[in-house]
Amino acid sequence: MDSPSANALPISASAGLDHIPLPGERRLALRVTPAAQHALRQGHPWLFAEAVVSQSAEGQPGDLAVIFDDSRHFLAVGLYDPTSPLRVRVLQHGTPATIDDAWLVGRLAAAAGRRAGLPQSGTTGYRLVHGENDGLPGLVVDHYAGALVLKLYTLAWIPRLPGLLAALEGIIPVRSVVLRLSRQLAARPDYLYGLSDAAVLAGEPITGPVLFEENGLRFEADVRQGQKTGFFLDQRDNRARVEKLAAGRRTLNVFAYTGGFSLYAARAGAPDILSVDASAPALEAAQRNFALNAHLATVAAARHKVLTADAFAALAGLRQRGQRFDLVIVDPPALAHRAEDAHRALRVYGHLAALALSVTAPGGVLVMSSCSSRVAAPSFFATVNRVARHKGRPLQELERTGHPIDHPIGFPEGAYLKCLFAVAP
Ligand code: SAH
Repeated sequence: MDSPSANALPISASAGLDHIPLPGERRLALRVTPAAQHALRQGHPWLFAEAVVSQSAEGQPGDLAVIFDDSRHFLAVGLYDPTSPLRVRVLQHGTPATIDDAWLVGRLAAAAGRRAGLPQSGTTGYRLVHGENDGLPGLVVDHYAGALVLKLYTLAWIPRLPGLLAALEGIIPVRSVVLRLSRQLAARPDYLYGLSDAAVLAGEPITGPVLFEENGLRFEADVRQGQKTGFFLDQRDNRARVEKLAAGRRTLNVFAYTGGFSLYAARAGAPDILSVDASAPALEAAQRNFALNAHLATVAAARHKVLTADAFAALAGLRQRGQRFDLVIVDPPALAHRAEDAHRALRVYGHLAALALSVTAPGGVLVMSSCSSRVAAPSFFATVNRVARHKGRPLQELERTGHPIDHPIGFPEGAYLKCLFAVAP
């Protein structure tokens, strides 16, 4: 992972990528607690700061850290980040490796290979790199028809950005590269060398939304200012499942964002669709997404309405006015970020399920999703079912789903997405 190759992308001067010092040559040597040794032997990708027993020197973000066991045998090598409680994110377990350009290209090529089938289904927007789960910890790369969005969760990738851009360019055709920073990173300008969230690092400037396709439907993504990297790519398969169920059904899409589920319902022939979200810009994008697909007769024929409102208040209001739907999709944001929040999150899921059922017509389909990694799938499914029984609407389950192919699960904490499809009698 040295300097970019001669055929590297034109690096936009304003982004200041040329101010980034090359990653240090030095490797830190770390000794860690027995519990951490055990976790690393099992292949876990994280070493927490409190598990470090000793280290050979002070390190900078992006230094390589080699972790040894009590007999001085190699356990793992990873990216060091002194600013994070997640002190080392493991790049390679078990056998030593030279972490260089070729290593990085190998990991990226493997990640690209896992997604190779997606474009054949009319999908040009997908996650190319899913962090730890693709062996590239702390790094997400979302691909929108040639516009790459690099989302970083550790400062360790900052000194490696020039090498990463060069390696990516060898993997797929790249038009533009945008940098997105996690909140923690954006708060550390002292380590960013002038880079900032939403910076266009390379290629064509990006001033407006980026257009891409998902299963043949056209969407825009605001890759610089939008939530996540501009689109919730992880729900693609669930959206396709909704399409199979939506024909002729009055559809309610709660937490609709830019209308992903709504568009699939429309293409399937849902006559009336209501998209609810708290974000007005997201719903404006939803309306533009409908316009982008107006060449499809079913989409043009669908009556699509948007409602900018708090989801809980909106559901209560719809219930009160007696409005009923034959398909109700509920896809809230993550409700638990820490283990201690899981209980409260389950109560909120239960509340949402009750509200959703109150506007679901008899025989209607309920689709409920959770993206809280701290809420285990069995607890989530059990909660939704329990609430439905209490409401006298015991669910007839159609399907329980998990992760799509571009969001692989590489370690226990990597599993976060679960979705229930059920008929409510
Ligand atoms: N279903 C969407 C993704 C939903 S992400 C898709 O397929 O693309 C969660 C959404 O919930 C975001 O758009 C966010 O704006 C919205 N949101 C968060 N809190 C909300 C609330 N209290 N009421 C309504 N919407 C909310």
